[in-house]
Amino acid sequence: MNAAENSGLTGGCACGAVRFRLEAAPLVVHACHCKNCQRQTGAWHAVNALLESHLVTLLRGELVHQHLSTPSGAGQSVTRCALCQTAVWSNYHSFSRGHGDIVRFVRVGTLDEAWRLPPDVHIYTADRNSSAPEPVAAPRYEAFYDLPEVWTQESLRRISMLYPPTLPGLHAATHANLTEHHP
Ligand SMILES: [Zn+2]
Repeated sequence: MNAAENSGLTGGCACGAVRFRLEAAPLVVHACHCKNCQRQTGAWHAVNALLESHLVTLLRGELVHQHLSTPSGAGQSVTRCALCQTAVWSNYHSFSRGHGDIVRFVRVGTLDEAWRLPPDVHIYTADRNSSAPEPVAAPRYEAFYDLPEVWTQESLRRISMLYPPTLPGLHAATHANLTEHHP
C-alpha cells in the first residue's frame, strides 16, 4: 500500500447524499470471508479499510447507526446513509475494547477509487464461499491474525496511540486483546 497516494481518498453512498474523505492511508485492508460479512455485502467477502475514526471525515449527508449482533457477542455498529441505507463503514466493539468509535472499518466498495485499496490480508477464510475466486497475493488466515504479522510498523505505531497507556505495550495488546476482535 502506498501511503502517500492513498491519503485523501473520497467515497460515498449509492444515492449520493453521503460523501466522506479518508484523511490518511488505511491501517490495513481486510478481505473478510466470515459469514456475517457475506450476508451484509451479498458478495463473496467484505473489503474493509481500517482507519482511525478521527481520520474519516463526513463531508455531507446524514448517517444512521444500526446495531447488529456478532458471534463474539460484542456486537457491531453499522453506519449507513439515512436516505439510501448504503453501509459506508462499521465499528466492531470488540476491536475498540469498549472505547467506542475509535477505528472504522470503511467499506472499500464505497470509495470512488476502490481499486487503490486491494486487500492486505484475507481473514476468516474458514467460512470462505468455496465458489469464490482464489484469493490472490495477500496472506490468508482461517480466523484472525496477530497484527504484527500483517501491519506495517507505521500502522502499528498509529494503532498503539489509540489505546490507553494503561494497556501493556503494543505487542501485548495486539496479542492479548485484539486477536479475537472480529467478528
Ligand atoms: Zn444515500
